[in-house]
Amino acid sequence: MIEVISNIGDAGRRLSQFRREAKSIGFVPTMGALHDGHLSLIEQARADNDRVVVSIFVNPTQYDDPKDLERYPRTLASDLDKAESVGADLVIHPAPEDIYSDNYRFRVSETVFSRELEGAHRKGHFDGVLTVVLKLLNIARADRAYFGEKDWQQLELVRDMAAAFFLPTEIVSCPTIREADGLAMSSRNMLLTTEERALAPEFHRILASGASAEEVVRQLTERGFVVDYVEKRGDRILGAVRLGKVRLIDNV
Ligand code: AMP
Repeated sequence: MIEVISNIGDAGRRLSQFRREAKSIGFVPTMGALHDGHLSLIEQARADNDRVVVSIFVNPTQYDDPKDLERYPRTLASDLDKAESVGADLVIHPAPEDIYSDNYRFRVSETVFSRELEGAHRKGHFDGVLTVVLKLLNIARADRAYFGEKDWQQLELVRDMAAAFFLPTEIVSCPTIREADGLAMSSRNMLLTTEERALAPEFHRILASGASAEEVVRQLTERGFVVDYVEKRGDRILGAVRLGKVRLIDNV
């Protein structure tokens, strides 16, 4: 059975033991409801390191909408089976009151890029993300931590934070894993109705079509998506849309 630790002090002690007995530790932070996208990060961590640690923590501070937080799927038992099946050694599953024993008095704010794209539509989102990632990186003190390109803006901000604060953990990026129809895997996909799920792959198809951002917005809106934003950054096009109650993000 895979080892699971909830207490942060116990997790720190177990990690110290890993550091004594192993050459390297890989860390994969997640919010659970694990799918093949998460498992690809764990597999990469397994390939690169002697010990692999996964965290499962639905982070309340990155939600501006309490309903969204409430709806977020929680599937711990099957998550543990999946993490074990791809070779994770330890799952850290902390309680929100332990992660935020300071009542979120202390937080990390990035003042430029975090205000764009996702940040422009989800107030305080990246303060919550960067704060919890810093806390988790400090608990794990891993050699490498793995993040998906699916959340490209998050990946860039985490990388920049690690550099800005001289964090010793190397940030490793992993490609987006998609369903056969192109839809980026996401824990939120399971919240889509049958009709919404049938329409969802159009998001990636249109985003990847090479059309201008304006044209992508037009086509998505015509199909029935509510578009939060579609914008280009360098050679990348990024978007966020809503289908009913579910918000999807992607980038190509
Ligand atoms: P989450 O549980 O959604 O916070 O995601 C945890 C990590 O898995 C983040 O680094 C995500 O970018 C990554 N991730 C989520 N979905 C995918 C996917 N479809 N492909 C690759 N990585 C992903």
